[in-house]
Amino acid sequence: MAQIAVRFRLMTEVEDFLAGDPIRPFINGKYMEPRSEATLEVVDAGSSIPIAHVAACGGEEIEEAVRAAERAFEESGWPTLPPNERAVYLHRLADLVERDMKVLADMEALDCGKLHQAAFADIGNCCQTLRYYTDLSVHTSRRSTIAVSGHEAWAMRHPYGVCAFIFPWNFPFLLLGWGISPALAAGNTVVVKPAEDTPLTSLYLGKLIQEAGIPDGVINVVPGLGPKAGAALARHPRIKRMSFTGSPEVGKFIATACGGNLVPTKLELGGKGAAVVFEDVDVKDTANKLVQIISFHTGQVCCTASRWIVQKACYEEFLSSCTEAFDKLKIGHGLDSRTGMGPVVSLKQKERVLSFLDRGPEEGAPLLYGGGSAKAEGCESGSYVKPAMLSGPPENIAAQKEIFGPVAYVMLFETEEEGIRLANSTEYGLANSVWTNDAARASRVAEAMVAGNSWINAHNVFVHGVPYGGVNLSGLGGGVLGPETYFDYLRPQSIVRPLQ
Ligand code: ADP
Repeated sequence: MAQIAVRFRLMTEVEDFLAGDPIRPFINGKYMEPRSEATLEVVDAGSSIPIAHVAACGGEEIEEAVRAAERAFEESGWPTLPPNERAVYLHRLADLVERDMKVLADMEALDCGKLHQAAFADIGNCCQTLRYYTDLSVHTSRRSTIAVSGHEAWAMRHPYGVCAFIFPWNFPFLLLGWGISPALAAGNTVVVKPAEDTPLTSLYLGKLIQEAGIPDGVINVVPGLGPKAGAALARHPRIKRMSFTGSPEVGKFIATACGGNLVPTKLELGGKGAAVVFEDVDVKDTANKLVQIISFHTGQVCCTASRWIVQKACYEEFLSSCTEAFDKLKIGHGLDSRTGMGPVVSLKQKERVLSFLDRGPEEGAPLLYGGGSAKAEGCESGSYVKPAMLSGPPENIAAQKEIFGPVAYVMLFETEEEGIRLANSTEYGLANSVWTNDAARASRVAEAMVAGNSWINAHNVFVHGVPYGGVNLSGLGGGVLGPETYFDYLRPQSIVRPLQ
């Protein structure tokens, strides 16, 4: 830790928070003593140096957190506050996140291996989400009259109670915002289980929750291993809703556990996004953009474009432009301002990425560019990989599985139908893009892609108010970021009185 602090001049607030031994779960408005001495080691992805120890919680802490959230729902007045009064607390929380943005961004960059400016953007995005749903709650009625003959009838919406959230390691604070903001704005209370590799910013939020004066127990954060803390939360019989973001494999466990208690579940799972590139684009510019997209957060982005489907007439120019752009990419520590691409999150993830670069070519998709382990200037260790491009048939393992690394799989097409067919040749259905200057073709192809989200001449476009979510192996339960997500956290009720 000291080596990192010296090299990057960490803020005192960051050093003080990371020095907690261990950093404790935040339950019922306090950082409470964990029930066991078990801890998780949090590592700086860029140097593989341990930076903090966090309590490894289990079933007992989850039980306390659910109880605290239940009590807050029943006794604190949070669910029945008028939305404009609840909004004061939530905007205050967003203000405090903004105030401590650098502290949060430093921590996020360290444990995720994110570039500093990307970490800043994530923290800012969390604030925007909090504000978006808070404002929506103030301007939306929860009561509507139903016109039926001979009866007075109306519909109401109420918060559910305790909502549970399990988050992954790639966008810890951004996804925390996407998850809990609509639930809180609707008047629910929440229990959060962050990913074991990246729990720091979610736990730091506890300090800001205290300072914002949010009633005890409304927001609880319990770090721990997935199969222990995560599983205990998913199977808890008194949670009223579950939201999970992560792999399809674990998503199935969560859905099964929640199904056992008939708890409604929202799953945001992986993807294997395609970018379909037509010959009429500025080929070099499009290649540059796609290289930026696959290297953004080192490819650890569910909705990234990891399959590049390129029309025959521009295929060779596209490949040489990609090679040029990859050659310019500087690999380094996330806190080094010269870095263009950081490490992957952990050595385990590095092994996973490298294993696909063995298995893809073994199954008939040769490497066109890069691949292998990388070193970053000034870092003895760290989980660095070189970017890579492979090419082969659509059924190859590297074209089918989510790799979560800077690995693009390139395929060639001739007709529009063939391009669409290749884009849809996956079990996933999260996000794709089409790149063309023909507006009619752009709309046709975008609409024909079987996925929750299609983008035109861009990728990774997120706007609050536009729903984002996946179909098939990429998720279920309605997605996030749209106004509908707010209503997902309100249970409907209808009331009828016969008129004599
Ligand atoms: P990844 O493989 O990308 O880490 P996972 O789906 O394994 O993604 O993890 C996402 C989140 O799910 C993490 O918070 C992790 O702790 C949690 N998790 C993993 N296994 C389980 C499980 N069996 N039950 C509940 N949560 C789990």
